[in-house]
Amino acid sequence: NRKPKILILGAGYGGMMTASRLQKGNFHQDAEITLVNKHDYHYQTTWLHEPAAGTLHHDRTRMKITDIIDTHKVNFIKDSVVSIDKENKKVKLDKEELDYDYLVIGLGSQPETFGIPGVYDHAFSIRSVNSVRLIREHIEYMFASYNKQDEKDDSLLTFVVAGAGFTGIEFVGELSERIPELCEEYDIARENVSMYSIEAAPTALPGFDEELVEYAMNLLESRGVNFKINTPIKEVQDGKVLLDDGEVIDSQTIVWTTGVRGNSIVEEAGFEAMRGRVKVDANLRAPGHEDVFIIGDCALIINEEINRPYPPTAQIAIQQSYTCANNIKALVKGTEEELEEFQPDIKGTVASLGGKEAIGVVGDRKLYGTSASTVKKLIDNRYLYLLGGMPLVLKKGKLNLF
Ligand code: FAD
Repeated sequence: NRKPKILILGAGYGGMMTASRLQKGNFHQDAEITLVNKHDYHYQTTWLHEPAAGTLHHDRTRMKITDIIDTHKVNFIKDSVVSIDKENKKVKLDKEELDYDYLVIGLGSQPETFGIPGVYDHAFSIRSVNSVRLIREHIEYMFASYNKQDEKDDSLLTFVVAGAGFTGIEFVGELSERIPELCEEYDIARENVSMYSIEAAPTALPGFDEELVEYAMNLLESRGVNFKINTPIKEVQDGKVLLDDGEVIDSQTIVWTTGVRGNSIVEEAGFEAMRGRVKVDANLRAPGHEDVFIIGDCALIINEEINRPYPPTAQIAIQQSYTCANNIKALVKGTEEELEEFQPDIKGTVASLGGKEAIGVVGDRKLYGTSASTVKKLIDNRYLYLLGGMPLVLKKGKLNLF
């Protein structure tokens, strides 16, 4: 009597928490659980703007998967997913092929470029530990290079952040904290450095409370950030950003944060997707594929109140992992009547602005300044607690709360 095989792809918020839920109790006696991830570590995507700017060491954002997953209960395979064959229930990895009875896709996102030319070739993105290490090293290299030249090239010290959504604002907040330190370290006057936050929409942080957006913009402007709102980018070239209004900004550092789409592997597998995200059913399964669960940034969930998709967040990915794990258990045990419907419970949103500054809405309360920044750290710590209990909070948490 063969045990059903459960295969989880991706050890981000969604995949890691699903594995962690499935390893609780004795479920491993009923099913063979396998988790596949590109790296042997799990990282906190929501913290990546910090190591990108160099305000936090990247090792603080990552942890070894086998320190958290009990390998007596869950097999861990370090490999990259190449493709999914949903008809034959097989997944091709770089080094081997696996089959499954139940699949969980938690492969996260990739940058949305809206087809704007030059983005892939000339812009950086905040998407993994390695991509943000490159940004931090590059920024430092720009500072170091500036001094070497007799005829100064200001594009070395011009930093452009494309997109003033959540990620763009969090990154530019960190960067504006880091720049004065770098100026000090490299003997460069602060006025030689320029920072731009460029946004196509009519406001920064679209969808956020207006008063908080104003607070954030005023604060960041006081740290030297130039906002260009309502200003689409036409093209990115080597060392240049071309704006729709004809302006050209010479910059050697363009960080692209205009939103994400679901991992292309999902679309390539033939699932019907919108910007790479699959509109899953109430139980989080791909329509027509009762054995495939899709969670996190690869899944699309509609907010019925406004009839628009929820923005993809870690908050939703984590909540989905609970429903997904419970539903897999119900299917394996043959108690389909116990399948749960997913209902997001949005507790709030807090965006950090660097240092001890943040803005957010929690419940119906608006927060800004230090109190928002403390809440942000508590949210970060809460996730670590859910994943690995108090020991993980003490090892990786943000303990300097105020
Ligand atoms: P991820 O957490 O991105 O994980 C995907 C995993 O899949 C990774 O481990 C990756 O290595 C792995 N993987 C990818 N491709 C392959 C492959 N081919 N083979 C094997 N493994 C693969 N959300 C919030 O709720 N609150 C916030 O404050 C917040 N802040 C953010 C700040 C920043 C700077 C960014 C970038 C995002 C932020 N988000 C925030 C959004 C949040 O990070 C994502 O919604 C969340 O990470 C999605 O979780 P996931 O499990 O779908 O994917």
